[in-house]
Amino acid sequence: MPLYAGFDLGGTHLKYGLIDERGRVVFSGRVETPQKIDELMHLLRRTWESLKKREKEGIESVGFGFPGIFSLKEQKIFQSPNYPELDNFELLPALSRSIEVPFWVNNDANMAAFGEFKCGAGQGVQNMILLTIGTGVGSGIILDGKLWQGKCGFAGELGHVTVNPEGEKCNCGSQGCLETEVSAPKIVKNYNTLRKKREEISAEELFHRAEKRDKAALQAFALAGFYLGIGLSIAINFLSPEKILLGGAVMSAGDFLLPSALEEARKRSYKASFECCRIEKASLGNKAGFIGAALWAKEQMIN
Ligand SMILES: [Zn+2]
Repeated sequence: MPLYAGFDLGGTHLKYGLIDERGRVVFSGRVETPQKIDELMHLLRRTWESLKKREKEGIESVGFGFPGIFSLKEQKIFQSPNYPELDNFELLPALSRSIEVPFWVNNDANMAAFGEFKCGAGQGVQNMILLTIGTGVGSGIILDGKLWQGKCGFAGELGHVTVNPEGEKCNCGSQGCLETEVSAPKIVKNYNTLRKKREEISAEELFHRAEKRDKAALQAFALAGFYLGIGLSIAINFLSPEKILLGGAVMSAGDFLLPSALEEARKRSYKASFECCRIEKASLGNKAGFIGAALWAKEQMIN
């Protein structure tokens, strides 16, 4: 049975796996992301070698999802706010020294959106957006059943639309992006601001405090939800998608974030457009990226 490999580079972990023709995961793994690009390339080579040893019959193709804006023309990442070592790095020549089967590279959130569209909560729709909220905010767009990349490949960066003109400085160079206002570090910051204290706590701990009805924790999530709602209304009015899927670690605290997000999105969207869009949780978890990358490469090979 032919198998296809996928890699998904995140800020903390590299996720990877093998899927079969129908997108079923036959093997998956994850390792911590090294911060240096040379170490990352060594890690990719070692992981690829181990996948080949595991599958003696051979792997047909490999797909990679990397963070940052990926140029279709130059085939490299121009700007990766959350992994700056990738900026303008000659990715394809480096990968081709290790990978001897056909391979394709794309943006990580695009690949996750493609994975959800093909095998997850986006199955059966033709127009959808995936928004992943964690340390950063990624998004990918499927239009008329195809991944929408824009002319140069930079489309789908909903995480970097401005939702708060007075907001935090963003790693992308802008200010008050959806990413800076709803990602995990900002929710912790909201909490500290509300309590007028500075405490180093994780978003997970904050989630537990919200579960215990800590008022400031609930408010911190609700404030992020407010800005998420603005982002959702932009997407709804602009594209009128059938579905918006929400994924990423912050969405495990969705119950604290979603009510204010939905309220704000409803207020700011055209009523008919809001009602025609289903906003749901994504279903593939942190496997969406490598599944999508593997399927993407498989499709490119056929076309
Ligand atoms: Zn930004």
